[in-house]
Amino acid sequence: MALTGPPTSAPGQPDPTDRRESRARSVRRGPGPDRLSAGLAIVAVSPLLRLAALRHAVPSGTANRTGCDACGAAIGLPRPWPALGPAGRCGRCGARVGPPAGTVELTVLGAVVLLVLVGPPVGPLSALAWWLGWTIPAVIVDLAVHRLPDRLTLPAATGTWLLLGLAALGDATPGPWLRAVAAGTVLALLFATSTLLLGRRGFGLGDAKLALSVGALLGWYGWPVLLLGMLLAFALSALVSVGLLAARRARWSTHLPFGPFLLLGTTAALLLTT
Ligand SMILES: [Zn+2]
Repeated sequence: MALTGPPTSAPGQPDPTDRRESRARSVRRGPGPDRLSAGLAIVAVSPLLRLAALRHAVPSGTANRTGCDACGAAIGLPRPWPALGPAGRCGRCGARVGPPAGTVELTVLGAVVLLVLVGPPVGPLSALAWWLGWTIPAVIVDLAVHRLPDRLTLPAATGTWLLLGLAALGDATPGPWLRAVAAGTVLALLFATSTLLLGRRGFGLGDAKLALSVGALLGWYGWPVLLLGMLLAFALSALVSVGLLAARRARWSTHLPFGPFLLLGTTAALLLTT
């Protein structure tokens, strides 16, 4: 069915086909997020992402956090409120636990807007949704303790590759999936090579593992999209570095986490090209 065909209903009698087309158009062109799905996502998904970020935002080699740092009260899905709510406060002592108030919820809202704007086909869109679900907490952890945990980046990569593979099966055209796998592999190898050659001055291996999924997502849409995403990530990283240097908030030797720029570069490239 053509999504942009002319309306066929008689005046005053809305045709159901018309309404379906209108919905499809609104999803394709994205005038704004669907409020219901945005609300549901924030209520249902945000506590999970808060929990993932809170658990893993600990220094490398340390056991995952299972409770409040101040009073030790357990935090988990059986009693999500209020620790996993938007305020992120311990239910027993009131200390802040996990990411700052509202940050996860706003990020999830941004993710829903992104999904609406990128729009169908459903196959790659489900891969993008999966990737966001793992990458948002991973990036929050990267900002907090400067590491990208395998427990978040590897499921992000595995699910993204599988969901893109299913999308390719549905379309019966393996080309985009093969390109996605090649792009993910090449990008991860480039990042890993920088670690081997430059040590701490290169990218971390966590960045390389995140690149497995970033490369696949962008590569699905084409090599130029991958190139644009990486250019945007590096440009944003350079801008922020210069800004921090100018504000004397960082020194030349300061090592910024790169995960947030990979997330932003990927998001911006998809918004500009899909
Ligand atoms: Zn507490």
